[in-house]
Amino acid sequence: MYNIAVIPGDGIGKEVMKACINVLKSLDIDFNFTYGEAGDECLLENGEALPDTTIELAKNADACLFGAAGETAADVIVRLRQELNLFANLRPVKSYPNTNALFNNLDFMIVRENTEGIYVAKEEEYTEEGAIARRIITKKASKRIIDYAFQFAKNNNKSKVTGVHKANVLKVTDGLFKEVLYEVAKDYEGEVEVEDFYVDATAMYLITRPESFEVIVTTNLFGDILSDEGAGLVGGLGMIPSGNIGEDGALFEPVHGSAPDIAGKGIANPMAMILSASMMLNYLEEYEAEENLNNAILTVLNEGKVLTPDLGGTATTTEVGEAIISALN
Ligand code: ATP
Ligand code: MG
Repeated sequence: MYNIAVIPGDGIGKEVMKACINVLKSLDIDFNFTYGEAGDECLLENGEALPDTTIELAKNADACLFGAAGETAADVIVRLRQELNLFANLRPVKSYPNTNALFNNLDFMIVRENTEGIYVAKEEEYTEEGAIARRIITKKASKRIIDYAFQFAKNNNKSKVTGVHKANVLKVTDGLFKEVLYEVAKDYEGEVEVEDFYVDATAMYLITRPESFEVIVTTNLFGDILSDEGAGLVGGLGMIPSGNIGEDGALFEPVHGSAPDIAGKGIANPMAMILSASMMLNYLEEYEAEENLNNAILTVLNEGKVLTPDLGGTATTTEVGEAIISALN
């Protein structure tokens, strides 16, 4: 029995979450879903975008599913990441049929460090001439994220981890990150290979030979940028899931927001949310259910009959969810 905290949030977050929960209920796994409020509507009703009750719920769960939040997205998700100590951001780059993917053969994971780098230290005012920001890279956080990447590779039959940095210029901070990469790699010798590239070269390789990647591990800012480049390689927002992993919990969410322009119309693509749930199954080590769900999603996409408008179809959110359920084993 897994306790899952469900935070649908605003706009299409609610719509895609409903479809997603129905799919999860159709699997042969015992879930206990508990619902929490967060986001713009929650702020209007309760005076805060992320109530303590929701934070507690998330902390006590085995994993969380998050839909989307509107204007309050940054507050809600940044706070949840901090409260749950979610140190790794996972963004799969996977091509699916009948989507707008630029490449049809991609399947790799970008593992981004989410607790330090240039985003964490507050920027300082400097002089009238300019400003200054600090970049923090620690041995501990580097080891934790790199270890996670290698472990992920091992658990998912990936044969190589690519460390991405800019150690030629950022000799001290990224020099450390690179040093830790090769230190950790020793523990996986014979199981998982290691290589490393500069971030600028990687940005190019993602276009010229993206199929050569299996698992990329990198620091906060580089991961942020490369993740969106990866999303661009495989098409629309309606197809991109993500995971946030902590030492004692995890949160899975689609990359898209609350999409006010289509909210309430029942036409949002639930695939990104359902693929996020599939990542949750992987995290819970429910590999059989994960495969079953992934195959069902592939079947629906391959058939190409029940697709939402963003993928060129005319189906509703609910219909796509039901089609996936019908395709389950
Ligand atoms: P927010 O303010 O919550 O971030 P947004 O307006 O930035 O919302 P996004 O959710 O980031 O909206 O989406 C940007 C565009 O992509 C919108 O036009 C939206 O309709 C479309 N879009 C996003 N997610 C989906 C989806 N799941 N299905 C279909 N279209 C989507
Ligand atoms: Mg947005």
